[in-house]
Amino acid sequence: MRLFDLHCDTAGECYNKKIPLAENDLHISLCKGKALDEWCQVFAIWILDELRGKKAYDYFVKVLENHKNEINKNADKIKLCQQFSDIDEAVKNGKCAALTAVEGGSPFAEKDVVFIAKEHGVKLITLTWNGENELGYGCQSGVDSGLKECGKTLLRSMCDMNIVADVSHLNRAGFYDAVSSGARVIASHSNCEKVLLKTRKDSEDKFFSCRRSLNDEQIKILIECGGLIGINFCKSFLGDNGDDGFEAVYRHMAHILDLGGENVLAIGSDFDGCDINPELSGIDKIENLNRFLADKGMDSVLLDKIFFSNSQKFFKNILQE
Ligand SMILES: [Zn+2]
Repeated sequence: MRLFDLHCDTAGECYNKKIPLAENDLHISLCKGKALDEWCQVFAIWILDELRGKKAYDYFVKVLENHKNEINKNADKIKLCQQFSDIDEAVKNGKCAALTAVEGGSPFAEKDVVFIAKEHGVKLITLTWNGENELGYGCQSGVDSGLKECGKTLLRSMCDMNIVADVSHLNRAGFYDAVSSGARVIASHSNCEKVLLKTRKDSEDKFFSCRRSLNDEQIKILIECGGLIGINFCKSFLGDNGDDGFEAVYRHMAHILDLGGENVLAIGSDFDGCDINPELSGIDKIENLNRFLADKGMDSVLLDKIFFSNSQKFFKNILQE
């Protein structure tokens, strides 16, 4: 099967824990990925909310340098992609096609987006993490305001440069600013608020999980603007204790499909960035999920759209423009 995964935190884990990308105990390793026929992976470099400005930029560069070294060491298995033709070539040659993203936009308050994109090949920017940064306010910031001027300026440049804006983690007002900016917008790793409200028991964590998820209006906007919604495998964003495996993934997918999201539904695993049910805890388990969804009645064309071709088409448009 083919997988195009819109979000993982593996690059930061490899850097911080000093472990190799080729073989490790993380959710993602090149060895575990061998099971896939074609594999495109967005590697996000997560910037903690506490890191601002120069500190954020310096951390981003260090993690990315380490990640590039890991890629160079394994050039027979993985290729860092800039253009769509790079993705095509990588998957045809049986290599993982790697794209670079930044999660938390603080580095862009220090260095201009044109410089970072050209120098470091960033294709996607998750504007905030859960808290506040120079660009705006995350879903747990406690602030309801929209994006800051710096965030709005960044979106205009991203629009000019075909860099994708990722609204996962943003608060609601920031979401509306992003989708009305003209930039290409996705939610790389976000699930459905409505499904969580129905299936999760009351707990403090439930309210964060709901704020971190998309409501139906947001899902419909992403469908209308031709974005993507990557289903997140994080336990607390899928369902309740124990009910956070394959069946829960199916529930969130079915909800987005019910709203008409066949062409935007995708995968944003959040591998190596969160706690995941053992059924789903690794890239080598993806085929089991695919089989489970097939048994639920999803046909092979729909499954390939969700797992690969919706994201492939989206990035083909972006990276060829
Ligand atoms: Zn995240």
